[in-house]
Amino acid sequence: MSTFENALKQMEKAFKVSGVSEETHERLTKAQRIVQVTFPVRMDDGTTRLFYGYRVQHNNARGPFKGGIRYHPKVDLDEVKSLAFWMTIKCAVANIPYGGGKGGIEVDPKLLSEGELERLSRGFMRSIADMIGPQKDIPAPDVNTNSKIMDWMEDEYEKITGDSSGAVITGKGLGNGGHAGREDATARGGFYVLEEAVEKKGIPKNATVAIQGFGNAGQFMAKFVEQAGFKVVALSDSRGGVFDPNGLNVGEIKKRKDSGKALHDGSSQAITNEQLLEIPVDILMPAALENQITEKNVDRIKAKLILELANGPTTPHADEILEGKGTLVIPDVLANAGGVTGSYFEWLQNVQKTSWSLEKYHGELEKIMRREFDAVYDFSQANKCTMRTAAFALALQRIEQAMKAQKNNLA
Ligand code: NAD
Repeated sequence: MSTFENALKQMEKAFKVSGVSEETHERLTKAQRIVQVTFPVRMDDGTTRLFYGYRVQHNNARGPFKGGIRYHPKVDLDEVKSLAFWMTIKCAVANIPYGGGKGGIEVDPKLLSEGELERLSRGFMRSIADMIGPQKDIPAPDVNTNSKIMDWMEDEYEKITGDSSGAVITGKGLGNGGHAGREDATARGGFYVLEEAVEKKGIPKNATVAIQGFGNAGQFMAKFVEQAGFKVVALSDSRGGVFDPNGLNVGEIKKRKDSGKALHDGSSQAITNEQLLEIPVDILMPAALENQITEKNVDRIKAKLILELANGPTTPHADEILEGKGTLVIPDVLANAGGVTGSYFEWLQNVQKTSWSLEKYHGELEKIMRREFDAVYDFSQANKCTMRTAAFALALQRIEQAMKAQKNNLA
């Protein structure tokens, strides 16, 4: 089953409890616009190479399309469509005024020089510039993209359109309309949600944690949980992982990663990414890619609480088995919504030509994440459904409300 079919399956269950109309449901099973681009990039050796990219605009009933751009050799239309769909749901769960979109380029950025990466990023922006804009569609970073790449894209957009507000893209650098709060907003938002979830589940503050993926989301989350007194016992990145039942030193492992080394240093046990998911821990956080918890490994997963920092890490079949086992799964559309919420703050400041203190940024993020956790939790209790079904159902209701108000979108 494709990732997009899996994503729609998640909506299927929620549709039944949400009470929204069949028309609303049907509209959300399709993206409003799908653009596939091919563009040439001049390589350092003088040759020209063609690259393939996508921008999917899933739904904009609640506001401009919003969603990151991913660079990965395995990016394809099915993946980008799924991620765009989840953004529509996520922005509605966070109750911020955006719809959902996503982009991606089929590329392994590690194989490009800095100059090639810049020309690639500018070339992609030229290919999609006419379909994006501060009130139309606002990209951001995702896997393997960062503030430097967003700055190149924003600069290219400004050259093409003359719009210097910076509001066309979020996750920009600090000197370019970005905000210091954005870097750790995904993990920080996830951490607020985690605090709420452990309380509901009665998990103690010194519980054990395993995190798969040690990039932007995973690294900051590891730092936050360690600071709060949880015991981080396993971490991994694309090259494999490390396990120590007595607890790892997150700062030391980050230093190893920053110096280009593998996470494992010989003093603790090396594990694979597959093993990381199955070790006995209280809390498991996937923070890498989709389809990691599947029917093949779900029976061996021991965590009582799974917080999905990654998008789409659990297949629907595995989700059902986890529900049967009584595992509390905090779904991606809630758990990692701190990222897009932080992006919304950056966009707001760019549009309003104002600047928030870090304190205000964190305060607003905390308010939204705790409020929407409560809304989803209460819905799940009232309707006797999982947190995922509750989050999707709430989102469907909010999207339908916007669709009904938007009569001018109907022919
Ligand atoms: P990133 O590129 O900074 O890091 C990804 C990490 O995953 C890296 O450590 C990489 O080595 C690791 N990885 C790659 N393949 C792996 C594999 N097969 N097994 C284990 N680890 C692997 O990306 P990120 O921004 O941290 O994003 C991670 C996940 O979080 C993605 O699903 C992304 O869509 C989601 N997310 C990120 C944000 C954000 O603001 N960064 C917001 C919402 C959702």
